[in-house]
Amino acid sequence: MGKFKVIEKLEAAIDFNFEHGNKEKIYRYLINFDDNRIIECMTIIHLNDNEPIDVTIEISNMYNCIVGCRFCASGSLPESRTFLKAEDYLKQVEICIKESNINLNDYPKLYVAFTGIGEPSVVKEEVAKGIMLIKERYNNVEVNIATTGFDNKCFEYWNKLNLPIRYFQLPYYSCEKDKIKYIIQNAPKDYDLINNIKEAIKYRKNHNECRVKINYVVMEGINDSEKDVEKMIEYLKEFKDDIIIKVSYLNYTEKCKENNLHSPSQKEMHKILNSIKQAGYDCYLFGTENNTELGCGQLVQNYICDENSKSIRSQNFIRKKVMN
Ligand code: SF4
Repeated sequence: MGKFKVIEKLEAAIDFNFEHGNKEKIYRYLINFDDNRIIECMTIIHLNDNEPIDVTIEISNMYNCIVGCRFCASGSLPESRTFLKAEDYLKQVEICIKESNINLNDYPKLYVAFTGIGEPSVVKEEVAKGIMLIKERYNNVEVNIATTGFDNKCFEYWNKLNLPIRYFQLPYYSCEKDKIKYIIQNAPKDYDLINNIKEAIKYRKNHNECRVKINYVVMEGINDSEKDVEKMIEYLKEFKDDIIIKVSYLNYTEKCKENNLHSPSQKEMHKILNSIKQAGYDCYLFGTENNTELGCGQLVQNYICDENSKSIRSQNFIRKKVMN
């Protein structure tokens, strides 16, 4: 296992739409885990007004994500990929709890989310090992997994194991091949969202506690027109009773700026949400119109790794940032 030294921290308390509440307290950590490699992990305290709902610890499973989503800095770091180990997942959970100085007894639920840097399906065995290791240490933990389904055998693999998976989250950017390829730059040739949803639902049939979320990340000019929404509604209709659609704002990152990717206005987002609701889907709005600077790879994007000197260099002047 590496060194796991916290080298930067970002704290924020923000108004934020999510399924069961409206506020978040966030402690995001940039971690030097291996001399010249950096990852991010984060403690999120979810609140409804001031009532605590849960603590969610978001962890990374890779350095330099294999998927390469166009809006995300995590997939475009200038060095070879590194897959983390089960012990590294547990270490991130421990760091997050310790550094954010929280008492788990103060919160009704503890969730660990594979929603940080990395694609869990590609390391499905390690993810299963990691979940079991985390469960040994935190008995009441439940797990959220966000996956593009790069390795579409992951659902079948996890299905055979007794894991406390609370939901799978699969991204939806479009049902048009060229748009998918534009956003998911390294999408495998056989990438098939419909098949992935079917596999996730199959898992759900055997594990009633697990839900399937479709993360519709709305981007102006890419997938936000009335026609785009209609197409999505039609595309997903066979799964209507088995999925929840999370209508998400795109978090601000440098990559978004570079590629001119952003969400439509709040008014438009509500209009889209209503259309999906009217079509009979279970759905909710996720995120905020404001630039929270909390997007995937938000801290990582400020650093590059120098292969020759094997050291981390910061591209910008970095400071500990505290927002109230
Ligand atoms: S958004 Fe997630 S899956 Fe996409 S490149 Fe970033 S870390 Fe990887």
